[in-house]
Amino acid sequence: MTHIITAPEFDPALIARYDINGPRYTSYPTAPQFRSDFDETALRAAIRASNEEPIPRPLSLYVHVPFCLSPCFYCGCNRVITRDISKADRYLERLYREIELMAPLFDRDRPVRQLHFGGGTPNFLDLPRMRELMESLARHFSFMHESQREYGIELDPRFIDGDYVRGLAELGFNRLSVGIQDFNPAVQEAVNRIQSVEQTRAVLEAARASGFVSASVDLIYGLPRQTLAGFDQTLTEVIALGPDRVAVYGYAHLPELFKPQRQIDAADLPDPETRLALFGRALERLSAAGYVYVGMDHFARADDELARAQRAGTLQRNFQGYSTHGECDIVGLGVSAIGRIGNNYTQSARDLTGYYAALDAGRLPIVRGLELDDDDVIRREVISELMCHGELDMPAFAARHRLIFDKYFAAEMDRLRALAEDGLVTLDARMIRVTSRGRLLLRIIAMCFDAYLAGAAQPARYSRTI
Ligand code: SF4
Repeated sequence: MTHIITAPEFDPALIARYDINGPRYTSYPTAPQFRSDFDETALRAAIRASNEEPIPRPLSLYVHVPFCLSPCFYCGCNRVITRDISKADRYLERLYREIELMAPLFDRDRPVRQLHFGGGTPNFLDLPRMRELMESLARHFSFMHESQREYGIELDPRFIDGDYVRGLAELGFNRLSVGIQDFNPAVQEAVNRIQSVEQTRAVLEAARASGFVSASVDLIYGLPRQTLAGFDQTLTEVIALGPDRVAVYGYAHLPELFKPQRQIDAADLPDPETRLALFGRALERLSAAGYVYVGMDHFARADDELARAQRAGTLQRNFQGYSTHGECDIVGLGVSAIGRIGNNYTQSARDLTGYYAALDAGRLPIVRGLELDDDDVIRREVISELMCHGELDMPAFAARHRLIFDKYFAAEMDRLRALAEDGLVTLDARMIRVTSRGRLLLRIIAMCFDAYLAGAAQPARYSRTI
């Protein structure tokens, strides 16, 4: 079945009205709901149960590399700034221990369909270290055949060259994403990230030449000293680079939560109208250049697998955003890594001290997580359907979960009716459909079904919805 996805309508006045904080729903329930009583024993039980499913799910490995060579001031990630490569060796020693403890818990015939290296800066590891790490993963888990796997890595082009990218291709990587944020010199200076178009082009060209299936770039709007004219020029340069996907994130200025952001002068931030206009310009320019708006922050070429999955109705959402293989169990490896095994979420120690201490004591470093209850599972499916497919067939959903939709979701439907009056969704006896006006406000629509937000004030820990 082909899904007809309408192009989003950019209405600044409407978006400004819904300019509140909200989760990104890379999981439901979201990470703040994880509990500290979910421990290693709970994880082991979840993995055992997942092995016993009639058809065990394939695996998706997430590997976190927390080190960065230079601090970007907008950063909200959990990372360690250092130029001392020996820190990588101390980290890898523990990561290998974690792999040795974790891998035998999974049945050996469960293939690794997806692999994702995130950070921090994964390319903090040089090629010999990267090779050793990939060999360890391949020894302990069952890597899928090259033609069937999606193995991706996040790269910082300031610190690598074409040879590094070609080396990654030889190690089995076939997807990459590259941070850009903005090419404008004034913005780069304000966020302490000086990166030329040439450095970025060298990485993307090497990726293309060495057979990477998909190359994606990240931009950020709402950064200090960003202007419409400057961002427009960045968009021209990005479009000329021809990435397969472009992610356009909104900068969330939360200096009380993220220390590096205290280096940013709030007076340099664009005002709310400019911030919105920056996103509007990205939408306009990328659409005109043939990119399809997938949802939330993501654009993809019409022939990219993400856009194809959206048309086919197989798009999924996971911790990295939209995905074509949401059916996998996600195994989180490394400090602060998040995993998902069936209806369980897990998270490892967020700091190196806790991570090292657990592994030195021969334990998995799980510090929190959540076993979803029936209501969580039901709501997770509603939110996923709306965010990935833009619609929900209520009678079919009700039959699947043996519930009366209007009764189960009485309060939620009231909230949704208010959004329908603003034209964000349409409702009839069968379908909830996100409209072209609602496509840029998916989080607002999903929030109607979030049991943990109901009645709560705007959650300060979440970023603005656009
Ligand atoms: S934005 Fe990325 S590269 Fe910059 S400090 Fe944060 S994690 Fe490191």
